[in-house]
Amino acid sequence: MLIDGHGRRVNYLRVSVTERCNFRCQYCMPEKPFSWVPRENLLSFEELFVFMKVAMDEGVTKIRITGGEPLLREDLDTFIRMISEYKSDIDLALTTNAYLLYESAQKLKDAGLKRLNISLDSLKPEVAQKIAQKDVLAKVLKGIDKALEVGLGVKINMVPMKGINDDEILDILEYCKKKNIKVRFIEYMENSHATQTIEGMHGKEILAKVKEGHVLKALGREGASPSFNYMLEDGTEFGLIDPHKHDFCESCNRIRLTAEGFLIPCLYFDEAMSIRESVKKGDIEGASKVLAKVLADKPKENRWNEADNGGENEASTRAFYETGG
Ligand code: SAM
Ligand code: SF4
Repeated sequence: MLIDGHGRRVNYLRVSVTERCNFRCQYCMPEKPFSWVPRENLLSFEELFVFMKVAMDEGVTKIRITGGEPLLREDLDTFIRMISEYKSDIDLALTTNAYLLYESAQKLKDAGLKRLNISLDSLKPEVAQKIAQKDVLAKVLKGIDKALEVGLGVKINMVPMKGINDDEILDILEYCKKKNIKVRFIEYMENSHATQTIEGMHGKEILAKVKEGHVLKALGREGASPSFNYMLEDGTEFGLIDPHKHDFCESCNRIRLTAEGFLIPCLYFDEAMSIRESVKKGDIEGASKVLAKVLADKPKENRWNEADNGGENEASTRAFYETGG
């Protein structure tokens, strides 16, 4: 079992397979970065897998593939298959913008993928285009339908932003209700890579919007999930991910691995340790030692809540497209 320096059980590994993306979301990567990580610096699937096996053997039971846009990485289904064949009961999920999903959903399902989280910030083509800086909505919606058709579990992620898509919270809820899928509203997390004029919505503001159309019942957090769940009067459930709150970190159960081989203990902070040399040499013991050190040093909590509590606005300098959100 993996336990961090604050006594929290860590059983969830998020693996970013590329920092590259085909969208330019205003809250994440509004401009192409000055330089991408050169392709030769990316770890191969086999090298990433050397570390992932160590993590699974030591107690990781849930793996999420993310990015950048993970569907841009060639032969992703082969990687999914490697993981699902190693441990058939692994909770294996993927986070995607769904632009390339129509073409790949069946292959991913056949390879052993169970669930998808899909980013959907607007149902209006012009607003989706404004956020992603590309005309994306039709392909994204087609991708969602295909994923449901092939039997993949689907959840929707929406990041509400003031003056951009805050008037669509109820519409996205309604869309998800019709499709029988769950939406999680995510508070915008301030970071230095985003368009700096963006104003996110705090959890209570998001809930106030939902209350304009519904009666809510709080259900609570589901295990170590960062999502606090609510139920509408008709039984529809949705989640709220509110990293500006302290209790969000109290049950943190995750670490992140980047495509270059950095193991990151917390989404907010810059600290990371590399497993690159270990996995290139097939040094299992070395990889395991780095994992132990990263767990021992895992921060207690992020600093997004400080601005809320009258402190300075502490935007993170970490890029979401690098860590995978
Ligand atoms: N490209 C994929 C996607 O968009 O779903 C996967 C990577 S993306 C970095 C993972 C998640 O992070 C997405 O749901 C996205 O909405 C979220 N995200 C990115 N930047 C964010 C920010 N500044 N605040 C809150 N969520 C953010
Ligand atoms: Fe790309 Fe996802 Fe970031 Fe949007 S949120 S720019 S789709 S990595």
